Amino acid sequence: MTTPPGNHAALLARRARVLAPTYRLFYEQPLQIVRAEGVWMYDDSGRRYLAEQPLQLAEELLATLPRELDSVIFTCTGSEANDLAVRISKAVTGGSGFIVTEFAYHGATEVIAGMSPEDGRPLGPGVYTVAAPLGADGAAAFGERVGRCLERMQADGVRLAAMLVDTIFSSDGVVADPRGFLADAVRKVHEAGGLFIADEVQAGFGRLGEAMWGFARHGIVPDLVTMGKPMGNGHPVAAVAGRAGVFAGFAKGGSYFNTYGGNSVSCATALAVLQVIRDENLLENARRSGEHLMRGLRGLAQRHTAIREVRGAGLFIGVELGANAASGRSGAAETRRVVNGLCRRGVLVGSTGRDGNVLKIRSPLTLELQHADLLLEALDQTLQSPE
Ligand code: PMP
Repeated sequence: MTTPPGNHAALLARRARVLAPTYRLFYEQPLQIVRAEGVWMYDDSGRRYLAEQPLQLAEELLATLPRELDSVIFTCTGSEANDLAVRISKAVTGGSGFIVTEFAYHGATEVIAGMSPEDGRPLGPGVYTVAAPLGADGAAAFGERVGRCLERMQADGVRLAAMLVDTIFSSDGVVADPRGFLADAVRKVHEAGGLFIADEVQAGFGRLGEAMWGFARHGIVPDLVTMGKPMGNGHPVAAVAGRAGVFAGFAKGGSYFNTYGGNSVSCATALAVLQVIRDENLLENARRSGEHLMRGLRGLAQRHTAIREVRGAGLFIGVELGANAASGRSGAAETRRVVNGLCRRGVLVGSTGRDGNVLKIRSPLTLELQHADLLLEALDQTLQSPE
């Protein structure tokens, strides 16, 4: 949708509809700047569309999110988006306690590093951890752990502000199942007066195949959704989406200013990414290629005892490796060997998980079945090879 030039009222209405009330107008009579040269800026005429990029992006993003989430704030990185979500949750709940998973990574600012215990980083004040559902955990286990964590916080006199979770638990070792396991935990968080922040920096933008967002797998509606990384396909653009009412509670304490957040170039980039996801049907591709890859990996697991478990959804797959009895290598050493063996064979994957023994396979969403087969062949060869 574009607004005809000069129709400031319509543009303002669009802005109020999709951008959070943390945004402030600079002038009583807002300007629609569309062009700049030297010291002069020009309104209307010519390249008028540039001023509308953030609105169009907010509208397109919100169209992919549950109806309850109706407002957006733009940032430049996932870390900034999480940092802002944390500030918002503190402001609107009055709490200062946070729940994250034991091996989470959420970003690099001072506060968010304190909520990112991956790599043994110390926790920040008021930050509590729960183990991600791995191993033999059933659907109820995660909710029960969050319940016990809330009891601990209460005993310590810490009031909950939010639970912050990467919806594919990427650094915890990739956990997608059992489907829906987050719902009970989110219900408990709400009962305790906290918000649920879904960190979609890893799982978002269609990677899990069946939906744009990882939380959809759990049948829940987050209070705040943070997104970044794939949003600009390499370009720094990120955002927090939420309810206007929640943002309004935060905006009472002041506006949020971010020089580059929501700039026209970044918004144009993110709009192009959304368009490619739609035009190239990448969700369906991630689902189809992901299923093929997962089937192939489960086939390899039948023949290679090194593979302990294959987890994930769409094109976000974790392959947990065990210790190799014959060579005496630990799971982590075997994983390092496989990561490097695959690299030599032209396939780039990472490793993740508390014990460093999970292959993290996140191919481009354009992966086709033939490419998945190349990956499977390279992994088969690597697992077979003695060094
Ligand atoms: N959340 C998750 C789940 C991430 O994986 C990352 C980055 N790896 C971040 C947040 C931080 O994003 P950025 O690096 O853009 O600050």
